[in-house]
Amino acid sequence: MRRAARGLLVALALGSCGTPEAAAPEPPDPTPAAAEPAPLTDTYRAPVGRIVEASEDADYAWTWLEALCGDIGHRLSGSPSLERAVDWSATELDAIEGVRVERQPVQVGVWIRGEESLELVGDDAPLAMVGLGGSVGTGEEGVEGEVVVLSSLDEVEPRASELAGKIVLFDQAMPDYDPDTYETGYGETVGIRTRGPAQAGARGALAVLVRSVTADRDSPPHTGATRYDDEGPRVPGAAVSVPVAERLHRLVDEGAHPRVRLRMQAHTEEATATSHNVIAELRGRELPDEIVVFGGHIDSWDVGQGCHDDGAGVVTAMAALRVLVELGLTPRRTIRAILWTNEENGLAGARAYEAEHWGDGLHVAGIESDIGAAPVIALDLHTEDVRRQDALAQLGAIVTLLEPTGLREARAGHGGADVSPLEDHGTPTVGLLHDPAHYFDLHHTAADTIETVDRDAFLQGVAVMAATVYVLADMEPRLSNPR
Ligand SMILES: [Zn+2]
Repeated sequence: MRRAARGLLVALALGSCGTPEAAAPEPPDPTPAAAEPAPLTDTYRAPVGRIVEASEDADYAWTWLEALCGDIGHRLSGSPSLERAVDWSATELDAIEGVRVERQPVQVGVWIRGEESLELVGDDAPLAMVGLGGSVGTGEEGVEGEVVVLSSLDEVEPRASELAGKIVLFDQAMPDYDPDTYETGYGETVGIRTRGPAQAGARGALAVLVRSVTADRDSPPHTGATRYDDEGPRVPGAAVSVPVAERLHRLVDEGAHPRVRLRMQAHTEEATATSHNVIAELRGRELPDEIVVFGGHIDSWDVGQGCHDDGAGVVTAMAALRVLVELGLTPRRTIRAILWTNEENGLAGARAYEAEHWGDGLHVAGIESDIGAAPVIALDLHTEDVRRQDALAQLGAIVTLLEPTGLREARAGHGGADVSPLEDHGTPTVGLLHDPAHYFDLHHTAADTIETVDRDAFLQGVAVMAATVYVLADMEPRLSNPR
């Protein structure tokens, strides 16, 4: 049903003039029509319509998502399953006619989770927890201590004298999603995970627990990277579910002096491992030295299947490339689908691409899908201030053409972690903002599996990616570079 309705909307959009001004009586125009370039909406209405239809019918995209998430499963940096995913995706991309595939070697750190558990001393029932990525372990004996509760990183300094010898719980709730601003509250909360163990450890804490960074009370615990200071102490860090954080907090408030025992076998291997970025290129038909890159990250955490994060982004890029090739839509510029490795554990893939491929040509734009598989509602643009207004107007034309699929707007925002090294060189980046209302319910959890992905929503993302890549790689002038 949803497919049929969307197809109808596309047909309506293709047949309409689009802008309100079109209804007003036209004044006499002294300039010959041929002197003005056609608006982007006119030039690209037909190809974008074809892209949307082909994406809605891209059964292979769903089959690929099932293969990556369901068959291969999660893909932690340095793991054999990540390299299975690299081999699989490179093989599938190599089968697309006219596409050249490179597997770029990248050295990545290898962090191993091992077994882990948390218990309240005096109570046998295990508490729901998951170790933080990059954390040190506790040793076989585990770490036991009384719980001290802090409500944010801001309390570390004023309460520093209370933390020595204790297990510190950061119980900071992530705010609810704001549908008006698309603000998730993740950015303002995630610091307890990334920096809590380093900061409390520096004040003598034995270990750190963090309330999972989510607004969803019912989700399993959420992992994610934590970052120590080079010179500082390294104490174990783990996330607990929201109810566990609230229970421990309540016991402390009641004066019960709860003690917990944390056991984690986590460790980082001495040696790095070789992983790979997968790069699939279709050369441009007129401007092959100008390059539009687009993609997602092929690694994931070692819980769930990494399907929203970021299997969907990876397959969206693969499918977008195939949609364009099968429609015969070779843009003027070169396009590269990139499946970056090691996003979650250090961004080594994105840095390796920048180091070895920045000089390949002029990088005109970088596009990233790394916020789940819900429908794309906005194009988030990151660029220099002086270029922003023009670039947003250009992206606005793409939004107009894709409005029937649910895309709402182009706005200033965040391009994405893997394209961020390109920003340092002045390349504008575009993040596909998949509706983030429920992304952080699943993010970095055992619940991030293909069963939580809606097929039609996922295929809408393929359409938005393919259309955005095509227009940005074909249009004149190039993005935010008016002549
Ligand atoms: Zn991600």
